[in-house]
Amino acid sequence: MPNKEARHILCLSGGKDSTALAVYLKDKIPSLEYLFCDTGKELQETYEYLNKIEAILNIDIIRLKSEHNFDYHWEMRSGFLPSPSIRWCTETLKIIPFEKYCGDNIVHSYVGIRSDENRQRHISSKPNIIPHFPFKEDGITKADVLKILDDSGLGLPDYYDWRSRSGCYFCFYQRKIEWIGLKNRHPDLFEKAKAYEKEATATSKRYTWAQGESLEEIENRESEIVKEFKKAQERSKKNMPNKSLIEVYDDALDDLDEQGPGCLVCEL
Ligand code: SF4
Repeated sequence: MPNKEARHILCLSGGKDSTALAVYLKDKIPSLEYLFCDTGKELQETYEYLNKIEAILNIDIIRLKSEHNFDYHWEMRSGFLPSPSIRWCTETLKIIPFEKYCGDNIVHSYVGIRSDENRQRHISSKPNIIPHFPFKEDGITKADVLKILDDSGLGLPDYYDWRSRSGCYFCFYQRKIEWIGLKNRHPDLFEKAKAYEKEATATSKRYTWAQGESLEEIENRESEIVKEFKKAQERSKKNMPNKSLIEVYDDALDDLDEQGPGCLVCEL
């Protein structure tokens, strides 16, 4: 017999919004369960941030993994890389493990979409999983999230120096400047991401993580990409003179307008 008592769950991604929501809800919902769906391809900085969250908030984060890893699913698809339009990675590595964990119980699932965002986030279509958006309901904005993290002592994850989102090191939602960041901060992971492209292309048609350009091509255009990003930062500074450096940085990334709005499950 399934346990019919309603549960309360927050999926952490290792990103700023879901982390701030953990801080925000900790005392409001004492029975809250904290989950992290680990794709096995996350950045070391993400794992370190999760450890820090556990230590500072004095909570346990349950780490879920899918039955088969990314490489298994990738090989099953004959080297077909996931993309914003066919995001099989999110389904297999995040949503299915989450739904299995929830089972048939009524689950209240808390999602960190802010009030200044215009996005929907799909976590699950199962009817027993009821989404809640406390930040939207309470008018919490990006500036509030930054303050919540600062006040809690957590701050931002270390990858924020060069990348604005959590998720897999090869996530196709990265902007080109973030790929350059990966190349410079984690050259080994950049090479691994390149190897997926090479192998995928060798078995079938050309596959690239970023839209319209291979990682080798991005690498060759590094100085041009850096220059474009600096210009975007200058524009953001002019348009947002009273904003924090982080907000200017985020705005400059958005200004580049690459790869859409990011993964709606993996964070953001
Ligand atoms: S972070 Fe990116 S690559 Fe990883 S599962 Fe999410 S969408 Fe896929």
